Amino acid sequence: MTIVLLVGARPNFIKAAPLWRAFSRIRSARTWLVHTGQHQHPDMCGVFFEELGLPRPLRCGPPEDMLAQRPPTRAALAAYLEPLLRALQPDWLVVIGDVTSTAAGAWAAYRTGVRLAHVEAGLRCGLMHMAEEQNRILTDHLAHALFATESSAVANLLREGIAPERIHFVGNVLIDALLQTLPLAEKKSWPEVLRRYALPAQSILPDKAWTSGYALCTFHRAETVDNPVALQHLVRLLQGIGQQMPLLFPVHPRTERRLRQWKLWASLQACPSIALLRPVGYSDFVCLQKNARVVLTDSGGIQEETTVLGIPCLTLRPRTERPITLQYGTNMLMDLQHPNAILAQLRQWWSAAAPFPTPPRPPLWDGQAAERIAQILATLSLRERSTARSEYSALP
Ligand code: UDP
Repeated sequence: MTIVLLVGARPNFIKAAPLWRAFSRIRSARTWLVHTGQHQHPDMCGVFFEELGLPRPLRCGPPEDMLAQRPPTRAALAAYLEPLLRALQPDWLVVIGDVTSTAAGAWAAYRTGVRLAHVEAGLRCGLMHMAEEQNRILTDHLAHALFATESSAVANLLREGIAPERIHFVGNVLIDALLQTLPLAEKKSWPEVLRRYALPAQSILPDKAWTSGYALCTFHRAETVDNPVALQHLVRLLQGIGQQMPLLFPVHPRTERRLRQWKLWASLQACPSIALLRPVGYSDFVCLQKNARVVLTDSGGIQEETTVLGIPCLTLRPRTERPITLQYGTNMLMDLQHPNAILAQLRQWWSAAAPFPTPPRPPLWDGQAAERIAQILATLSLRERSTARSEYSALP
């Protein structure tokens, strides 16, 4: 069985690590790790390959100078992937999540007749203007094997008419990665992580104010950071939070670019209790999540990780495609338009006498999702081959 495992952006690299290991354990499998180059900043890419034990990938995408000018489109990435898939003729193209590279891979697989497997299939927030939602729907409807993380995703796929035999409820490869990384993260000290990633202009820290802990935040979605008004609201909110509790903010390159473009960077940097950091490596970021008193985010994966870690998480989005995180009680959705309600909720969590109770883990979030996926792909390939053989022998 030949597999092409496609990655392009930070969350893909993290989720690819357990898949790569599981595919490597199947003796009959030959796996190619292919990177579109969508994220190529060393803090968003190289650091994850080194730390998570991924091999050097085959690079297949637009040249770096072109990518540095503007983010690639799905069509541009797909145009590079098609010849590669034609040349390799894999049994499976495995794509992960909802980034541009995911949908580009799906499109290239469709055009070349390669069978497509989608890891993290079926998640829906119902907001069609979001690029991630478009990527999810396109990919799911082109996929032959769909691997779901939660039961709502299975229900979404069935409702959209996907054949039940294509859908496999396997658990969550991000949680595989989290559970594999946790022992290392637990050995780390968060003040040390903070000092290592703090941006040079920050006179950090952590000083006395940080002894009671910190809030952690990340933001990178177009809806939050590509709109100057929303970004201004966010900066004001973060300044308000900074007045009440120390705040750690590892800044995504896209967010930094926008903050600088709209002249909001300096005012954030001037806040003495907000520590701006470079994007953080995975085990260091898990250490920061584990030790945070509260998390504030617009990320998809962080909603899931905080659910397993039992850290209260406020997600600044109108809806989530990961409703199980709401059901398990760690995650709450709030609107950037209501800063006072956000501050009140954070204060309530911050001042709670007892730590947040760690909820039980959602079904199959047990660290074995990648193994299940590898076994299912191997079984499907065997079945496919024996069907092809029996059709061949039936020829007159
Ligand atoms: N993450 C990280 N370093 C950071 C911020 C996030 O390693 O500075 C990890 C985080 O633990 C999670 C993943 O990146 O596993 C989430 O990626 P992101 O928020 O970029 O994408 P999304 O999950 O929204 O698709």
